[in-house]
Amino acid sequence: MSADPILAADVAAAPPTAIELVSVNKWYGDFHVLRDINLTVKRGERIVVCGPSGSGKSTTIRCINRLEEHQRGQIIVDGIELTNDLKRIDEVRREVGMVFQHFNLFPHLTILENCILAPTWVRKMPRKEAEDLAMHFLTKVKIPEQAGKYPGQLSGGQQQRVAIARALCMRPRIMLFDEPTSALDPEMVKEVLETMVSLAEDGMTMLCVTHEMGFARQVADRVIFMDAGQIIEMNEPNAFFSNPQHERTKLFLSQIL
Ligand code: ADP
Ligand code: MG
Repeated sequence: MSADPILAADVAAAPPTAIELVSVNKWYGDFHVLRDINLTVKRGERIVVCGPSGSGKSTTIRCINRLEEHQRGQIIVDGIELTNDLKRIDEVRREVGMVFQHFNLFPHLTILENCILAPTWVRKMPRKEAEDLAMHFLTKVKIPEQAGKYPGQLSGGQQQRVAIARALCMRPRIMLFDEPTSALDPEMVKEVLETMVSLAEDGMTMLCVTHEMGFARQVADRVIFMDAGQIIEMNEPNAFFSNPQHERTKLFLSQIL
């Protein structure tokens, strides 16, 4: 399969370091939720993050597009350091697409309208161009024929693929996924994972929280295991799965594999 030319060009234009977290610490009140997180993600790298519930996976990726703020350390995304500067936060959010467990589509807008909303309002893209782009990405996620329907008329798997297409319509250089398949019926997981694999093949920089270890083996450059707010272990998938170094990683893998 040949790479998507639009995605490939956008990622190629990005700086060589996509995401850098340096000693990131975060508290929710008194609760120390992220403890010295250090992570560098290169352009085009695919990272899978796993770990028990409550370990700080969502908080970590939500800090990367400033849905949450960190209190100590540095987060640099696409060359821009996240501070309280709202202009920079907007710049980062324009470059970072996010897909959540729940699809968060606007129920009163058609699939096509969902896809063109942010490009026309935020990117000021002409409507025709935004529609063409939306159809390009709806075709990529294999549901162009659903463009005129409303989210409620689609299956969960289709809605999640729309959510991916909608994020791509902003021409992001980085895609963040937070358990994108965990709310889906089992028979729909595959179609969403296939979409994510095809994005990976296009060279997209991806940080994915998921427990789909088949996906991790297939596309991840590195797998990260988090527990209690820390990165416990990080390795390429073969070594990670065949030879985990830490007891907590072994225990976790024994529970999910
Ligand atoms: P994960 O995604 O790995 O399941 P989260 O990042 O969602 O973990 O949560 C990490 C910890 O922080 C959990 O103990 C959770 O209860 C807590 N937490 C998450 N969001 C908030 C919040 N907004 N306020 C207070 N505590 C929170
Ligand atoms: Mg989570």
